[in-house]
Amino acid sequence: MHVDVRTQDGTRLGRVKIDQATRPIRVRPGNADRDTFLEWENAVDDAGHLRACITCGDRHLYRSRSLPQVTPFVALIALAGATVSLLGFATSTWILNLLIVVLVIDIGVLVFARTRLVCYRCGSIYGNLPIARYHRGWDPAVAEKIVNEEDPADSNRLGRQDREGTS
Ligand SMILES: [Zn+2]
Repeated sequence: MHVDVRTQDGTRLGRVKIDQATRPIRVRPGNADRDTFLEWENAVDDAGHLRACITCGDRHLYRSRSLPQVTPFVALIALAGATVSLLGFATSTWILNLLIVVLVIDIGVLVFARTRLVCYRCGSIYGNLPIARYHRGWDPAVAEKIVNEEDPADSNRLGRQDREGTS
């Protein structure tokens, strides 16, 4: 698999290739001035799938596609095309052409897009690996929970603001 490594505060350190079979304990991403240590303990499930972030140890990962889907645009243009022909406006050939172009892009996205795993806490991205079914898409509730857990300084600050606001 390959990993776009980030630090706890989200700084990009660069991409590294990691062999899941050998489980290296340290890597040196391109932009880093020191090694990043990898935590494999409990990070891989029985089936060999990654279930936790090996750079920060967080157990919350979400799946994400490397390319956005354009299917809504296909539907929109099809609708526009239908409307134009129904209203009997001049040739709708250009809409048909546009529809074909977007459809081709749509299929291309389906073929070439790769699903990746992203760590909620540090934002490290794991690509080119088998992904277990239990990983879900990004969930704002989980993201919020992690921010609250991870940033006691931040929540203190918010609490203080609240108090100042009410006094
Ligand atoms: Zn992480």
